[in-house]
Amino acid sequence: MPRFFNIAIPVPMRQTFTYRLPERLQEQSIEVGARVLVPFGNRSLIGVVLSEQADCELDAEKIKDVQGILPAESHLNAQQVKFLLICARYYHHPVGDVFSQALPVLLRQTNEIDLRQPLCWQVDPQLSPEQLQEKLASIAKTAIKQKALFSLLQKQGAMTWPQIRLSGFTKSQLNALINRQLLVESRLPNNVFQFDENVVATENRLQLTTEQALVVSQITQHLNQFSCHLIDGITGSGKTEVYLQVMEKVLEQNQQVLVIVPEIGLTPQTLHRFEQRFNVPIMLHHSGLNDGERLQTWQSARLGSAAIVLATRSGVFTPMPNLGLIIVDEEHDASLKQQEGFRYHCRDLAILRAQQQQLPVILGSATPSLESLHNAKAQRYHYHQLTQRPGSSKLATMQLVDVSTQPLVYGLSAQVQKAMQATLEKGEQVLLFLNRRGFAPAISCQECHWISECQRCNRPFTFHHNQQLLVCHHCGNQKRVERQCQNCGSVRIKPLGQGTEQLEQRLEELFPQFNSVRIDRDSTRRKGELEKHLEAIANNEYQILVGTQMLAKGHHFPNVTLVVMLDVDGALFSYDFRAPEKMAQLLVQVAGRAGRASKPGHVLIQTHYPQHPLLQDLINNGYEHFARFALMERQQAMMPPFTFQALIRAEANHGYLPEQFLRDITAQITDSDCAMCGPVAAPMEKKAGKFRYHLTILGKDRQSLHKTTNRFIHYAEQHADKNKVRWHVDIDPQDMSW
Ligand code: ADP
Ligand code: ZN
Ligand code: ZN
Repeated sequence: MPRFFNIAIPVPMRQTFTYRLPERLQEQSIEVGARVLVPFGNRSLIGVVLSEQADCELDAEKIKDVQGILPAESHLNAQQVKFLLICARYYHHPVGDVFSQALPVLLRQTNEIDLRQPLCWQVDPQLSPEQLQEKLASIAKTAIKQKALFSLLQKQGAMTWPQIRLSGFTKSQLNALINRQLLVESRLPNNVFQFDENVVATENRLQLTTEQALVVSQITQHLNQFSCHLIDGITGSGKTEVYLQVMEKVLEQNQQVLVIVPEIGLTPQTLHRFEQRFNVPIMLHHSGLNDGERLQTWQSARLGSAAIVLATRSGVFTPMPNLGLIIVDEEHDASLKQQEGFRYHCRDLAILRAQQQQLPVILGSATPSLESLHNAKAQRYHYHQLTQRPGSSKLATMQLVDVSTQPLVYGLSAQVQKAMQATLEKGEQVLLFLNRRGFAPAISCQECHWISECQRCNRPFTFHHNQQLLVCHHCGNQKRVERQCQNCGSVRIKPLGQGTEQLEQRLEELFPQFNSVRIDRDSTRRKGELEKHLEAIANNEYQILVGTQMLAKGHHFPNVTLVVMLDVDGALFSYDFRAPEKMAQLLVQVAGRAGRASKPGHVLIQTHYPQHPLLQDLINNGYEHFARFALMERQQAMMPPFTFQALIRAEANHGYLPEQFLRDITAQITDSDCAMCGPVAAPMEKKAGKFRYHLTILGKDRQSLHKTTNRFIHYAEQHADKNKVRWHVDIDPQDMSW
């Protein structure tokens, strides 16, 4: 009797495929989740078995054979398969691609792979104290980092290379210790994580405040069943300590914990705090790891030997057989949403996964998303508030600076300059926030006002002074700076507006006795550069910090007591209905970075619209009040989270194509429960030479949204222009600019 299997393969089609198990493979066990090699066209692809088919309706002659079954250690299990199928259905994304995205890169390939546990290093336990003394003395006094790494390993026990690297050390520092025969190398043990009395470093446990203790006890009452908890806690209120103490209870049950953070590379402190508290294997998953390292994380999580996985977005797919808790920190953060290909929201998948596996999930933020606040209000989530900072540190105060009536010098008002001077003279640091990198957002002709634009996007080029380049921040297009106006031939070409690069330069003129440093994507492109800057800031080598959004994430600057937001007005009048929410989150988050210690921080916000009700509300009443109000506005406007959206984006080489394509399909869906909004040109109508259109499907409930989206896809796949128009579906879209 031949056996047939339904298999997901990574092709951009929504269907799955049937293959036969040939005679020669009948002996091998093949289960749901098995990775198999199958022929597709003239290629061999890796597929995942979804189910066995009792019989096959297709012409058995035409069905191809499975070519091979890959090593069992690399297979998924039935639960994961079920989860990924739910993901594919929810996001209307091709099943094969969902499976492929959920696997580490090396498991998407047919090459042979190393599935051994990762290497780790620890201080040689064979060395006597005298021998250690002697060897340590032989390290040069100047090799401070080597010594620091040694004492870290002494405290921490075995560490993997990704852990060591994230703690700020280099391979050559590690090698130096290995060469001195201070360390021994081993592999992380294969055994499943077991709790014992050495796991928790109780001496580092903090005495919880009443508020914290209440949250911990409420959450730990709900272990081993599904529940979703939103911790709405002001910055510095000790959310991390709450996580740690809940995690402890979960580890005690021999269960694993998955912790998701927006960007690990930017927040080594988080790992550090976990390491200080728990003596367990902690594995990392983030973009700074290579493919081999990511596979190792996947593998030790899958074996159950990794007790904690600290991951960014795509880590939500990490297989963990004994998972007992998922934490999503900074749940409002935009980076949790994947913006291309399989467009999932990590927070929402974490909740789906917790539901499926019957375990608690914690969402934490000082500025929760309106979606989560709405769900908490509707009592779908347990809502926990932390309203105080333990200890004496105070929250920063916020103040608006009206710049509509006063002249600016290099973008800085007189009031801001005065405040900066006073802060700097006290020996404290200033942070200037400007979300625009480069020297100037455009260059323009002084005679005829011509602006140099990227032909592929019809948007101004950003001027980068250091490299003397014009760069399109939308498509990456670059060219040398024009010396002459392309319109009138004049040579009077000047930069227009100000970016971070220019601001940094001007600060040297305005505050010559102080040093400034710029932190943005341009200044931190090379590996280790960001860490170097952060260290120098901590050592007070710089007194003025200039930066973009990057500075709002995760860092703490205890000596920064003045934060200036130079330009927030764009968000007040945006096409994106989420812009005010994002702006409010940014303001509160940036303010939270300042004055952590005993020095209270102060935030100045430059605006042309100091009377704007959103700004007034945020400044006077705080984020929570602002959010309540913003939710009311969303409700009145019938916007998410009160309605549900699917955004269809379509693009082609000619403008009429995507528009007509969307119009044709909309015309076919006449009796839907959903509103079909559009087609309209995307806010950026042209990008990288393509013309782009939007169609928004707006549903009163999820079910009708899914139904109409399915119908859209059905018609789109039959449309005559389907090969000329590229389109995709984005469920719960976050980025409306494209
Ligand atoms: P959040 O994550 O909410 O911004 P953190 O967890 O980083 O806040 O805590 C802020 C600071 O407060 C940290 O330095 C932390 O060690 C300290 N802290 C947290 N909880 C307590 C507590 N119960 N007692 C004393 N200090 C605490
Ligand atoms: Zn001109
Ligand atoms: Zn461009």
